[in-house]
Amino acid sequence: MSEYTDKVYNQLKQKYYWENEFLQAAKEVLDSLSPFLENAPKYQWSKILERIVEPERTIIFRVPWVDDKGEVQVNTGYRVEFNSAIGPYKGGLRFHSSVNLGILKFLGFEQIFKNSLTGLPLGGGKGGSDFAPKGKSDNEVMAFCQSFMNELFRHIGANRDVPAGDIGVGGREIGYLFGQYKKLQNTFEGVLTGKGFNWGGSMIRPEATGYGAVYFAQEMLKTRGESLEGKTVLISGSGNVSQYTLEKLISLGSKVISLSDSSGSIIDREGIDSEKLEYIMDLKNNRRKRIKEYADEYGCEYHEGKRPWELAKADIAAPCATQNEISLEEAKTMVNNGVGCIFEGANMPTEPEAVDFLIGKKVLFGPGKAANAGGVATSGLEMSQNSMRIAWSREEVDNKLHNIMINIHQACVNAAEEVNAPGNYVDGANIAGFKKVADAMLEQGVV
Ligand code: NDP
Repeated sequence: MSEYTDKVYNQLKQKYYWENEFLQAAKEVLDSLSPFLENAPKYQWSKILERIVEPERTIIFRVPWVDDKGEVQVNTGYRVEFNSAIGPYKGGLRFHSSVNLGILKFLGFEQIFKNSLTGLPLGGGKGGSDFAPKGKSDNEVMAFCQSFMNELFRHIGANRDVPAGDIGVGGREIGYLFGQYKKLQNTFEGVLTGKGFNWGGSMIRPEATGYGAVYFAQEMLKTRGESLEGKTVLISGSGNVSQYTLEKLISLGSKVISLSDSSGSIIDREGIDSEKLEYIMDLKNNRRKRIKEYADEYGCEYHEGKRPWELAKADIAAPCATQNEISLEEAKTMVNNGVGCIFEGANMPTEPEAVDFLIGKKVLFGPGKAANAGGVATSGLEMSQNSMRIAWSREEVDNKLHNIMINIHQACVNAAEEVNAPGNYVDGANIAGFKKVADAMLEQGVV
């Protein structure tokens, strides 16, 4: 780190010492920016780093609701409005028992650079609650979502802050949240993305994060004259991002052999085909059951409490569940087992020591900020369609998404080369994402 980035990081560490994930995300960005900032003193004079690491606004609120037994439950709701230099705050809502302010600040901070990379006018934000939809009835989820929106509605809007889904927030939750927003504001507007297709949602939005991540991986592999065809892939998670990463990989001729959830992993050495994927979608999206049932259904291996990384040999790994799910040890095992490419569908799934190791070993490493930006990019396309009151076809949206991912890949490659770190997509993504936001902040004055 340079003296400047070091100073900013140490101040942040002192002030927010308990926000581990946020400090981890900030350190990675500051590390990448260090050589770039040495040749760009204007950012230092105007204290751009000191400003960019501090959210513009953080909202924390009580979310009381009544469960099916008639008992009152109380959760905490958050919205971190991190940066609006290049557009309205944009980023998902996460409903999971592990949610706290540090996790949402890490996600909101990453979102600033990710959204900038998409080339669309989107600021960065993130929100959510420690409410876990897992194991709750539809009625309970609706009661919670309505109460959550009873406070959030006054802070968001189509030109102000546009939340979307994330872990624990899919089509069902977005529906309940949108319904309550509409009732409270008496306005039908594109205030949330990931909406149902009949009421303003964009084609391909559900698929976008997974498809986009695969498009990004294709571009990385092309730089080495390789393709996804015939490659064996480990995927973690079994939610939205995992399912559509899997779908796109199947269509491109890869053999995916694993999935997981927070209880354990399945290894299906024969490969997961389209028919099995249909089973998984029903299991996870309708019946909302554990991945273990897949192993019972198809007679494959199930490893309770394990992540997929050390369970089988593969060429490629796609972590698509949650943060810090690949340790240094697991990264070493994967490289020994032949993994030469990792693309992050999830946000920050690889621990920092593991990232350094993988880059050192010349593994093609696509960080979430770049690789999973297709989700928010397509949310941006949903916002455009809502503003214009039109709906593009699947093909139109998919083509736009594909082009955006190609452009993000190129922006990362170019920025990495500028700082003499060719092939380092982490540095590339951080620098390319930062420049646009930092320049906008300079132009808009000290606000
Ligand atoms: P879902 O809720 O649809 O699925 C999450 C999956 O990850 C589930 O299989 C879940 O298992 C597993 N998981 C969640 N938390 C943990 C944990 N602590 N340990 C182990 N497994 C866990 O979420 P998404 O697919 O939408 O999101 C997955 C990742 O992708 C997240 O990092 C998210 O931030 C990122 N992302 C999502 C985008 C989107 O458009 N949805 C956009 C960009 C990034 P279980 O069911 O047991 O909890």
